[in-house]
Amino acid sequence: MKVDVIVVGAGIVGLFTAYELAKKGLVVTVVEKEPRPGMGVSARHANVIHVVQLPFSSLKSRLCLEGNRLYSKYSEELGFKLKRTVAFLAATGPSARLKTLLAARYLRWKLPAWVGVTAVPGRHVREAEPAASDRIAWAVRVGGYGIVDAREVVDSLVRGLKRVGGEILVSAEAVAASLTGDSVKVETSGGVTLEARGMVNAAGLYSDRVAAWFGDHFKIIPVKGVMTLHESPKVETILAHIASKPSRETKGGGIIPQLDGRTLLGPSYAEAMSKKDYGYNTADVEMLVAKFSPLLGSPPSKPVEVVVGLRPTTPGRDFIISRSHRSPRVVHLVGIESPGLTAAPAIARRVMEIIRKVV
Ligand SMILES: Cc1cc2nc3c(=O)[nH]c(=O)nc-3n(C[C@H](O)[C@H](O)[C@H](O)COP(=O)(O)OP(=O)(O)OC[C@H]3O[C@@H](n4cnc5c(N)ncnc54)[C@H](O)[C@@H]3O)c2cc1C
Repeated sequence: MKVDVIVVGAGIVGLFTAYELAKKGLVVTVVEKEPRPGMGVSARHANVIHVVQLPFSSLKSRLCLEGNRLYSKYSEELGFKLKRTVAFLAATGPSARLKTLLAARYLRWKLPAWVGVTAVPGRHVREAEPAASDRIAWAVRVGGYGIVDAREVVDSLVRGLKRVGGEILVSAEAVAASLTGDSVKVETSGGVTLEARGMVNAAGLYSDRVAAWFGDHFKIIPVKGVMTLHESPKVETILAHIASKPSRETKGGGIIPQLDGRTLLGPSYAEAMSKKDYGYNTADVEMLVAKFSPLLGSPPSKPVEVVVGLRPTTPGRDFIISRSHRSPRVVHLVGIESPGLTAAPAIARRVMEIIRKVV
């Protein structure tokens, strides 16, 4: 079967990429090893359209801001719900005012004006977020955040992709790939061999394995994030602890509203044992409840669900978008950890710029 571009992996990143390529008139086939799209990393996360990502100089931070803006357009175009909200980075104790004033100044310097960053006293937080604790003395209010339901985004992308002529093969694991002349061949577990002028490796946790078929070597370190879902208290905004100093390890999580009305706590951040290590224990759950309860006026109800996700991180802790050293026809997307959901539309545009030179 001959197409213009093969995309390996029907997660949020592969789907946004395939949709963009197909919209430009290319014949695109996505191969996905699972029986449904969006069952990998894209199925287990916090559903936040992010704003603040450290370090600000990283590719993931830049693509996060670009992707954030694009979500409004795609929400209309594809018909999925996007609820815009704000985040309060909260501080308690006597130095809260100074801490938030300094943090707000730093964030205003680093972020574009559309975000809207201000330091606000605790009563402003409680006016906007009645569930917030009166222990919060001051907070940095950061605008521009969003909440989606990733399942709905995936489903709308699948429909959108089909509308623009793209195809998805499910239960079709890419098992080998090779370069021949001016094309790329991908063999799938179902015995189908696809040939294309370009290939995009959007295989998430397994992008290192796919890259290795081309002699390109990357290291994926799976990092676990445990999240709990609660029926109450309901929140409308994101509440998080302010970091004492800016650091790239501020994956501290938060209290996050979900579109179904539940409240998510987390995620946590700890290296996993393997790419299949979705285990958690009561200490993980207790840690989340203990960490975030001080930001709430009343403690969260018993968790109704615990979700464990794995971030496909790299040693440099940044996204890698690179051509294969063997061929410009192959683009690897590696280390697409958080905020990959947010950045996905921007990643798709970067891939488009690379791929259109060769197909
Ligand atoms: C705990 C946690 C919380 C997060 N919270 C947020 C958040 O709130 N906001 C945000 O922006 N980001 C968040 N992220 C990050 C975000 O979830 C990911 O960056 C994003 O989902 C990655 O999408 P992907 O398409 O690259 O990967 P995936 O969704 O994993 O897609 C890759 C696909 O490739 C398939 N595949 C793999 N190998 C093959 C093969 N050989 N052949 C065929 N198919 C193959 C897999 O089955 C999978 O479906 C979070 C991540 C975690 C873990």
